[in-house]
Amino acid sequence: MAEYTCSVCNVKFYDREKKFTNDENKCILHSEMDKNKYNGLLNELFIERIELYIDKNILNNKDNKVTFYNVKIPIFKTETRDSTYLWDKISKKFEYNNFKILFIKSVFYGEEKLSSLKNNYLIFEECDFLKKVIISDCKELIFSNTRFHTYLTYKNDLKEQSINSNLSFNDCIFNIIEFKGVTFNNELFANSKENKSFKLEELNFENCILKNRLNLLNNNYLLKINKLYFINTILENKVIIKSCEIKDLRLIETRFKNFCNFEKNKFVSLSLNETIFEKMVSFQQTKFLTNVDFYYVTFKEHSIFKNTIFTNELNLENALFEKNSSFLNISAHEREKDYKDKYKGKPINIKVANRETARIIKDSFEKQNNIIEANKYYAVEMKEREKELEIIKNPLDSIVFFFHKLSSDHSQNWMLSLFWIFLISYLVTSVKTTYGMFETILYNIFIYGVFDKMANIINPFSIMTRGESLTFSMLLFKIIIAYLIYQFIVSVRQNTRRK
Ligand SMILES: [Zn+2]
Repeated sequence: MAEYTCSVCNVKFYDREKKFTNDENKCILHSEMDKNKYNGLLNELFIERIELYIDKNILNNKDNKVTFYNVKIPIFKTETRDSTYLWDKISKKFEYNNFKILFIKSVFYGEEKLSSLKNNYLIFEECDFLKKVIISDCKELIFSNTRFHTYLTYKNDLKEQSINSNLSFNDCIFNIIEFKGVTFNNELFANSKENKSFKLEELNFENCILKNRLNLLNNNYLLKINKLYFINTILENKVIIKSCEIKDLRLIETRFKNFCNFEKNKFVSLSLNETIFEKMVSFQQTKFLTNVDFYYVTFKEHSIFKNTIFTNELNLENALFEKNSSFLNISAHEREKDYKDKYKGKPINIKVANRETARIIKDSFEKQNNIIEANKYYAVEMKEREKELEIIKNPLDSIVFFFHKLSSDHSQNWMLSLFWIFLISYLVTSVKTTYGMFETILYNIFIYGVFDKMANIINPFSIMTRGESLTFSMLLFKIIIAYLIYQFIVSVRQNTRRK
């Protein structure tokens, strides 16, 4: 009988195996043959071989470690035998041991259901999972440099009972991940500092507790994530989601109990609801490319929105800020930076969804004694107030508002006030010189005659002047000029100091 030796594991094998794999140098564990399709005979031979391999390795094993190197694991999925069949067989072999079972550079062709193998560690290094991976009830499970090509899930559907898991992924690449009802003890994505290839399409936490920190950072390389959902989840440690472009971010009924670094991100679509930030949170230099509504979001500590960009409407009406927040240099548009990494140009006032939002931003600047910035959002607040005012319901307020805006753009534009002062003075003077006395045009109208007499009686300027006679139109003119001068002074002061 012909005898062959596997070049990977040195095991001897015979014709039965060789005929099947058509390879003299590889046993069925290591054969490169196509294992993408279910094959009953392949599975039988494979199980036989793996059991022999384990038996051989357990004997005389000093460091309690069994390593599967470069193994190609076929599809086990049929109606009666799914992938758990293989894991049950492996599990039985390690029943009374405390082993480290390692798979290195191995490929898993089928859907895998991984669960803890009693008290044994299960470790995967540089492996490829081509189909779905379902983790259940795992105690010690570590993945390093491993690629999950399709879908990874760890779900516990038992209500209010979370699995305590020592799961960790070091420098892995993912497609879609779904976690439900799990308490994670370890740092879930423990990536090395040099790692620049971290990839993730979708990550979904539901009813989870993360006891260790969560770090989604690709060493300042932009990490593109399609979906990132935190639903009813508690994050007890630091959260770093930095330099990411996230198409759809949802924070629903979630508690962040430690510092959150959400800096330099790009959020394309965003949904926030009943979420609590218990410690400081920073959104510095993050771009919100959608309407943002911090709907029942509570900030218990400082929140930083420095140089944050809101291209669409911001709504803070239902947000709760227990401590002060910083909105310094928030802008509606992205600003370019110069060679010193400093921003060029001035920030542009953002769009607010309502007056309350402008008031909160203004209030935060006032608390920091930043009066110039506070005044900018005072003007935004006034504009929103204007929208609220209905001329029929509040005719007087509306008129005052109209003139306030027209004369000085709510005390923001001193040039506008000056312009009106000059224009009105010029018009009045030219009318006067063209037609002689300005008053003579209207003098014949009786009613003005009466008003002129009244104007002379109440003439407030007589104290300052030599008691020259005053017509009603001149009184009106003087009042307008006085109002404009007042607006001019206030506008000048608005841009420099406290009101
Ligand atoms: Zn082999």
